[in-house]
Formats: sequence, C-alpha cells, structure tokens
Amino acid sequence: MPIYISKSKYISGLQCPKLLWTQYNDKNAIPAPDAATEAIFAIGHSVGDLAKELYPDGIEVPWSRNLEETTAATMDLLPQRKPIFEASFQIDGCYCRADIMVPVGDDSWDLYEVKSATKVKDVNVADIAFQTHAIERSGIKLDRLYLMHIDNRYVRQGEIDPAGLFHAEDVTKRARALQPGVAANVAALHRTIDGPCPDIAIGEHCTNPYSCDLWEHCSAFLPEHSVLQLYRIHKKKAFRMLADGIAAIADAPAAELSNGQLIQQAAVNSGQPYVSQDAIRRWLAGLQYPVHCFDFETMNPAVPLFDGTSPYRQVPFQFSLHIIDSPGKEPRHFEFLAEAPEDPRPALIDALKNLGDDGTILAYNMGFERGIISRLAEDFPAEAVFLRSLNKRFLDLMTPFSSFWYHDPKQKGSCSLKNVLPVLTDTSYDGIAIAEGGQAQREFQRAVFTDVAAEEKAQVLQDLRAYCKQDTQALVDVLGVLQGLV
Ligand code: SF4
Repeated sequence: MPIYISKSKYISGLQCPKLLWTQYNDKNAIPAPDAATEAIFAIGHSVGDLAKELYPDGIEVPWSRNLEETTAATMDLLPQRKPIFEASFQIDGCYCRADIMVPVGDDSWDLYEVKSATKVKDVNVADIAFQTHAIERSGIKLDRLYLMHIDNRYVRQGEIDPAGLFHAEDVTKRARALQPGVAANVAALHRTIDGPCPDIAIGEHCTNPYSCDLWEHCSAFLPEHSVLQLYRIHKKKAFRMLADGIAAIADAPAAELSNGQLIQQAAVNSGQPYVSQDAIRRWLAGLQYPVHCFDFETMNPAVPLFDGTSPYRQVPFQFSLHIIDSPGKEPRHFEFLAEAPEDPRPALIDALKNLGDDGTILAYNMGFERGIISRLAEDFPAEAVFLRSLNKRFLDLMTPFSSFWYHDPKQKGSCSLKNVLPVLTDTSYDGIAIAEGGQAQREFQRAVFTDVAAEEKAQVLQDLRAYCKQDTQALVDVLGVLQGLV
C-alpha cells in the first residue's frame, strides 16, 4: 500500500526527518499523548466545531480510516457548491483533510484552516501551503487561503458569537510563496521514510514549532548536570556548547556564564548547596506578620465561559491561604473553591477579605497572583480599592532562589516551587491525585462544567483542595527552612 503523508506528518518532517522516520518506521518509540496533549486536541476539536457554525448550510465529509472512501465522498459533495467541512484529498503521496472549504464564484473555493491559537504562526502557513498543493493537484481551484484563529479581543456577552470569536486572516500571499517548494519537500520526506533512520543531533528544532515527543530518547546521552540545565541559558548558546563538545555544566567555560550560572556551576562541582545567609536575612527582614502564604488556581479557556471575559483570560476559581500570625506559630488555613458552573469571581473576591488589611502576602512567582488581582480590579471596579491594596503587600518567595541566594545542585537549574520544595523538605507533589496547575484547571472544568456523576465531582473537588493547600503549605515549609538557615 502506498504511503501518504498527512499535513501533520508533513510538519513533523519539516521539523525533523528523524521524527518523521520514527513516526512511520518505529511507531512504538513515540510515547502516547499525555493528558495535557489530549486536552489541547480536545480544545482544537471544540474550536473547530464552533467555526463550522459560521456556515449553517455546510456539509461534513464523514470520517473514515479509509482514505479512498473520504476522498471519493468529497468528490461526490463538491458539485453541490456548499461549504464543506473536512473535505479530503489524496494524491501524489499526500493526504489532507481541509477544515472548511467555501465555494466562491462558479468554480472556485476559499480554504479555511481553523486554529485555537490567537495569531498566525509560520507553521500554519506551511500547513496551508501543503493543503493547497494537495487540493490543487486534485484538480480543484482555490482562490483565497485563510487561517481562521481566535480573536482575543472578543468579549463574551450572552451566547458565544462565532462571528466575533474568530478572525479569518488572509494568508494567500504567504502560503502561495511556499507552495512551489511543497512537491520537492514531499518527495524528500518520502525518501526519508524509505531510507535508514536519519542521524540528527538535538538542537533548537526539537522544540520548534512543537516540543518533540522523542526528546527523552534523543537527549538520553546528556550527563546528569548538562549545559541545557544552566539557569535561563539561551538555547542557541547551550546547543552551541554541545556542538563544541561541552555537555557537562562542570566543563562550561566561566566566561560564558552569568553570575547565577557560576553559582550553579560551583554548587554542581561541590555537590553542596550555595547559601548567602546575609542576603536571605535581609530579605526575611522585609516580612511583616501576619504572613499570608497565598496561591491562586486559575483557568483560561479558549472559548470564554463567562460574560465580560475574553478568550484565554485567566479566571481564578480557587485559592489557598495559610496565615502565620507570628514567627513560629502554627498557621491557620483558609480556602476558596468554586463549585457551581457560574462565574466564580464575585464569591472569590468576597473570600479574599480573609487576607485582612495588613501583613505580608507571600506568593511564589508573585507576578502571576498580582496580575490576576489587577485584572479582578479592572473587571470589578467597586472592589478595585480593596484589590489594589492587596497588591501592595506582596513579597515573592521565589526571590531568594531566582537571585541565587540559595541554590542546591539538585534543583537542576530550576527555581520552580515543584523543584525547590523536595530539595528543601521531605515533601513533594509526587503521588497526589492533582499535581500541577494545568491538571487542576482541566479537572475543575471537567467536574464543574460538564456532566459528571456527583461522586466523581466531589472527589475532584477534594483533590483540588488537597493540591492547592499543598501549594501554600509548601510556602510555609520553604519559608521555615530559609528562616532556619539564618
Ligand atoms: S528530539 Fe530533536 S533530534 Fe530527536 S527526533 Fe525530536 S526533533 Fe529530532
């Protein structure tokens, strides 16, 4: 059976021939998509369905594994001259399903590729050039080529209005400029598939345009402390060092490293944490009791759920708060978690009154929490004075780590709380049902905004409470360790 290259495989092949070769010749080496990737697929599907609402007289080509069948069904539908969804074309070793084709004039069509992103990316244009090649080689005339993406200026009021949610950007010129190279690319990709596994070194292409599923496999040769883990190192620089044969942090030339990276290198070489007690002591002196260890959980749906919100707007639905009234005192715990499928923000703002009027609000990477509060102040002007007063009280617990006043080689160059916590304490996020923010928002939306059984919803809400509480307990614990150090 001849091999056909789909549009996603075409993009894989342009990103890395080794990835493409593996997709066809060693499929088992490709890990199954994780929950986050599945969620991205699901968003793509639901956004695609909304875009179809723009064409109420559209006809969908039924899905089938049999490419000949879908191609034949498309050819049968074309003479009706109605918008077609998932029109399929298989020709010259290429196969594509076009999201939307709309008839124009007597015999032409406009092509629409639908994406859940908020702008056109180069990879989308390459994808459209590939589709155009396959469709026109099938004898169909295309006029304008569009990338239909989400318009982040859209503000929901009432039911979702697909005409406002989407923006169709004309990329005809850009895609036509790429089109002459498509046939040669397809031929080269077929040769890759038929040949031996290409020997490709890891590089910047491993995350551009997408994070490659084979990263673990291809990067397995790296030492435990590799130059790619140097704190905030520019990828170009790290891969240049690798190409020069410098793989270990220990071997990185000092002249190439920032002050923080030099501290990291010294900690790796000694195997011991680096501690600047004076700097930590000065920072701790800025704490004012009661100290409020605070953390939001948010969701940012592509399709806004509430009136007055825009696509991808961060909407807080939960927070956890541990209040330490005085040094050494056992913290008191408060929390808020929305449970009903309605806008959580008014009730959440009320619950924020538990932050009181004075004392430090301690967060990890406080820019995020302050940004959420600023947005709440804009959206709920009656509470703006109160909310803005909160933002003046923040202190960032990440500072001692991002400033390298404390650095343990076991952090592997990361200052995230998930990496710092297990290094400083006996606790970690391993083994808890919900263990990271992306999972928290996915589970919250599933439990509260979809039709799940009451018991399952109760379990998810309990897991969410445990996760968010762990986040602020982590702040209490890390703060305690820093105080113990000085
Ligand atoms: S990890 Fe990098 S080198 Fe390996 S297959 Fe993926 S893109 Fe290619």
